[in-house]
Amino acid sequence: MIIVMASSKKEDVAHVVHKIEEMGYKAHVIVGVERTVVAAVGDERGKERLISLEALPHVEKVFPILKPFKLAGREVKSEPSIVSAGKARFGGGYFSVIAGPCAVESEAQIRESARLVKASGAAMLRGGAFKPRTSPYSFQGMELEGLKLLWAAGQETGLPVVTEAVTPDQVAVVAQFADMIQIGARNMQNFALLRAAGKAGKPVILKRGMMSTINEFLMSAEYILSEGNPDVILCERGIRTFETETRNTLDIQAVPVIRQVSHLPVIIDPSHAAGRWELVTPMACAAVAAGADGLLVEVHPNPAEAMSDGQQSLKPERFGQMMAAIRPLLDVMKRELC
Ligand code: PEP
Ligand code: MN
Repeated sequence: MIIVMASSKKEDVAHVVHKIEEMGYKAHVIVGVERTVVAAVGDERGKERLISLEALPHVEKVFPILKPFKLAGREVKSEPSIVSAGKARFGGGYFSVIAGPCAVESEAQIRESARLVKASGAAMLRGGAFKPRTSPYSFQGMELEGLKLLWAAGQETGLPVVTEAVTPDQVAVVAQFADMIQIGARNMQNFALLRAAGKAGKPVILKRGMMSTINEFLMSAEYILSEGNPDVILCERGIRTFETETRNTLDIQAVPVIRQVSHLPVIIDPSHAAGRWELVTPMACAAVAAGADGLLVEVHPNPAEAMSDGQQSLKPERFGQMMAAIRPLLDVMKRELC
């Protein structure tokens, strides 16, 4: 249920929150530009009791949230959410590019990557330390050592960093060393991991599962939001189709579809979608044109020697060319590059 406040006074909002909690629901206060609303979420049965709140003088209206995703939807928050880390900003007209290697491989490799992507205009550094690999025999990442190297490269360049937590027990250490936590496609419905990320106190990039619908994607975001973490970025990274020419099929329509129903920022990962470096720049351009709020791109100082995903990683100079290609489109789309 959505409780639209007639008054935005702290004590009035606190009173409504208290009443909601008394009835056994979780209260989420959303302060908008025009109005403050309190979303009461919990068991759908018996939610009609919440309508009695309409009798309070500082409550304007109480009505049900129709969509299955509550906090992620436009019904509770009509204006776009902006998620930031350092100078990187996503949503509400701001656009940032996250770039870096698939995995942290050595101190030299991640430092070099950080320096080069920053020089071309990336606002954030990526690099996997805990890698979710299809084969248990593939490189699994440098784990804690890699996480520390990523953090140090971020410190040295002033770039905020993002890396993946693969299990719930890794969330705390990732939150300690990274500015954002990534949840990978293979883990989009790992509900324990989503809940842990919701409690971590850092923004989360949630990647769409390769076999997940947009509705399931938003329901996964809801797990994070419902734990009290409002900073969720949705990342479309390609879904599995019958096509074999590309690693996945980039669902570019996901951007406007999500924008219609959700206030959360949406970014595109053209690297994992395409699986081939030659397609990254065209798909990055398509992402901007579709209205995305940012990009997540794999860049490696020497893709031929990459320990994972070399075939889809851009060489640094090609990343520079990608940035040059998207700049005029960002102007057309009225997006500010941060
Ligand atoms: C990644 O970003 O390194 C990654 C593993 O991506 P995905 O979860 O989208 O496959
Ligand atoms: Mn990768």
